[in-house]
Amino acid sequence: MAELTPMKRQYLAIKDQHPDCLLFFRLGDFYEMFDEDAKTAAAELNLTLTTRDRNKPPEERTPMCGVPYHSAEAYIARLIAKGYKVAICEQTEDPAQAKGLVDREIIRVVTPGTLIEENMLEEGRNNFLASLYVGVQGTGLCFGDISTGEVFLTFFAPEGWVDHAVNELARFAPREVILSPGARDKGLLDHLSGKLPCRVEQAGEERFALAEARQRVERQFAAGLDQVPPEAEAAIQAAGGLLSYLYETQKTDLSYLRTLRYYSTGRFLELDPVARRNLELTETLRGKEKKGSLLWVLDKTKTAMGGRLLRSWLERPLLDPVAISRRLEAVGWLVDNAVEREELVQVLREITDLERLISRIVYGTAGARDLVALAAGLDRLPLLQDHLPQQAPSLLARLRAQLDGLPELTGLIARGIVDEPPFSVREGGLIRPGYHPDVDQLRAILTDTKGVIAKLEAAEKEKTGIKSLKVGFNKVFGYYIEVSKSYYDQVPQGYIRKQTLTNCERYITQELKEMEHTILSAQDRIVALEYQLFCDIRDQVAAQAPQIQEIAGAVARVDVLTSFAVVAAENNYCMPRVDNSDKLEITEGRHPVVEVMGRDALFVPNDTYMDNKDNLAAIITGPNMAGKSTYMRQVALMVLMAQMGSFVPARAAHIGVVDRIFTRIGASDDLAGGQSTFMVEMTEVAELLRHATSRSLLILDEIGRGTSTYDGMSIARAVLEWCANPKRLGAKTLFATHYHELTVLEGQLPGVKNFNIAARKRKDEILFLRKIVPGGADQSYGIEVAGLAGLPPKVIRRAREILAELESQQDAPKKTGAREASQVSLTALGEEEVLTTLRNTPVETLTPLQALNLLHELKEKL
Ligand code: ADP
Repeated sequence: MAELTPMKRQYLAIKDQHPDCLLFFRLGDFYEMFDEDAKTAAAELNLTLTTRDRNKPPEERTPMCGVPYHSAEAYIARLIAKGYKVAICEQTEDPAQAKGLVDREIIRVVTPGTLIEENMLEEGRNNFLASLYVGVQGTGLCFGDISTGEVFLTFFAPEGWVDHAVNELARFAPREVILSPGARDKGLLDHLSGKLPCRVEQAGEERFALAEARQRVERQFAAGLDQVPPEAEAAIQAAGGLLSYLYETQKTDLSYLRTLRYYSTGRFLELDPVARRNLELTETLRGKEKKGSLLWVLDKTKTAMGGRLLRSWLERPLLDPVAISRRLEAVGWLVDNAVEREELVQVLREITDLERLISRIVYGTAGARDLVALAAGLDRLPLLQDHLPQQAPSLLARLRAQLDGLPELTGLIARGIVDEPPFSVREGGLIRPGYHPDVDQLRAILTDTKGVIAKLEAAEKEKTGIKSLKVGFNKVFGYYIEVSKSYYDQVPQGYIRKQTLTNCERYITQELKEMEHTILSAQDRIVALEYQLFCDIRDQVAAQAPQIQEIAGAVARVDVLTSFAVVAAENNYCMPRVDNSDKLEITEGRHPVVEVMGRDALFVPNDTYMDNKDNLAAIITGPNMAGKSTYMRQVALMVLMAQMGSFVPARAAHIGVVDRIFTRIGASDDLAGGQSTFMVEMTEVAELLRHATSRSLLILDEIGRGTSTYDGMSIARAVLEWCANPKRLGAKTLFATHYHELTVLEGQLPGVKNFNIAARKRKDEILFLRKIVPGGADQSYGIEVAGLAGLPPKVIRRAREILAELESQQDAPKKTGAREASQVSLTALGEEEVLTTLRNTPVETLTPLQALNLLHELKEKL
């Protein structure tokens, strides 16, 4: 191996500090990458791989590739998006001054969860870094967004931590998560590589050490620590781990992360990733698009801060009726006061992203344009105040009080910075005339070099009495004073001769030298001085970061509440009554998304009445496409909307707070995971039965569909019995099914009621009425699989009993059942031959066993 060059040694030493990063090594105007990094980057970025030492044998050549420093951000963004970490190594001394090798240092490590660059961030969406610490005493989970300065922290008991962690991670959707050794649970890791994709940083126990963590947390956060309960040490460790990672990667001022928001998971309605997806909260199930989601309907926010907050309210509906009613009351005022609402919308439109601006200002990457944008935003605040009520409703009045602008600060920015500053802060032209005398003078010198010279010339003439005195300039001597021969005797003491020509002599003076220096260096000096003045203003702004963050928070709230009001007014929503009762009463409810998507087709409203006594479970039957799942989803969505503080699409609604919503919807949407549809279905049902409480709302759509009729129906019935039995679960359940046999439960189980969505047959056509009315209208080795998936043994046992019962009596229900099942699975496959066989089969006379065999045969044929 050849001797290493000094630079390569320096490179390797620096690379050694962050072996898991791609190292961008600054060499002049380029960032270069070497060795494996070069190969990776070349492949990912489509760069050409080169080498420095072509004269060596191929195996000794160092592969390298590079990107120009001025366009590096775009390349870094692409690497980050692919889940890499990039360490930026800069030259930390001026190469001109360096003796020998230039000093170099890593100034920052860019990772997916620690972005602050505007171009790499999505506007209406937080960019969270998560830190998960799992200890014996419990689990701590911390989320921080350095682009907005928000930090959230929570804690849960050791029991069932994986589920809680998965739910919280799904809510915050972090771009990167730091895991403690105890957190490397297989189920969790699967989620992180599949459904909640983000970069995973595997960290050692030392990153979370309690004593250091506590110190870091206490030093960093000025507020919020008192909220953390004493037993939640794991939470402190998670927060400490997050900070340690930030310090290691950012190496800059993070003082704007000052408020720690501790929350207990019990404060919010819990939603697992399945329910979140099924209910299409932020994106649609199939297209993964915002359009068609609940967020799309509700988000009429005008500011980026409001956009992010609305998303987080949607992800975290509340449980406390008092807090919910406070929001509702504010929305109510904004609905009733249309003029004020319109005005607020107009003002909000003009407010920039104060939250991210102040973060960049403190972080040190903000330019003069950012300061101007911040001031412009702050200047709008009084206009917001003008349109908010001074007294009740109390929430709006409180927000109004928080919107006091910062006139001194905006005054400073207005005085100091020009209206339209250039992009760069290192090229001058950004300080306003009149702000600082030296800037004005230097500018005068630059714009008026001739005038300055003429002035000096006149002054020298006057002083010496030499009428022919002239000030001139040439490249060799610079500025000089020229005196013609006849006046040599009048040349004063201070003149230093530089050049003698035939008819004249040229001199310089101290003053002229200084003037020359002033002129020639004015450009450099003004640039430096403007930069310094700018930094000074920026520091003064940064010092007010806490106030600005509070203002930004208030603007975001006003924006979200206004957005709720705009939507409520446009779509004719009503204010729900929310309390701790067991009621779920909706009069003329609609599906918030379907009614908007299908504007031209009239949406048929439907009522809902549920409680935890006589109306606990609704069995909903009706043909395919009748509107069963639309109806069930609309009930769930209205509960969510009400608990986030929004009005709901109904004529009236009374909603007792729900602690969790569970869904089991759709049969074919999770094939990507590689599990069989039935297995997925049963896993979801198992989850739901394990975690639901009597205050939960369950939406079950066609349970047992993925298996044979008997198995499926048996499981469906056992699950329903479990849910509707107050001694077991006793939770409000909406249960859509194809098994008309289940409607017999209405008489047998208290609390179970039959409903169907009416449809009429007209000749050969079916007419959907979309109205839900009382009364009933209609399936493999599934039980074993259900057992595998983790359904409680009691449910499994019960399912077996039912199956045995069914199999012992050979009459009508089975036959209908078997026929239904064939229809369901085979028409979907649509194979001609199978269909013909089927058409010719006398179903009525088949025994269940024959039916199963036939099914098997048909499947073989396919
Ligand atoms: P099912 O679950 O019974 O198969 P869906 O809920 O999927 O039926 O509804 C089928 C279609 O009917 C949906 O595309 C929806 O647009 C429409 N629909 C459902 N409910 C209503 C309603 N109340 N008013 C108008 N259209 C509806």
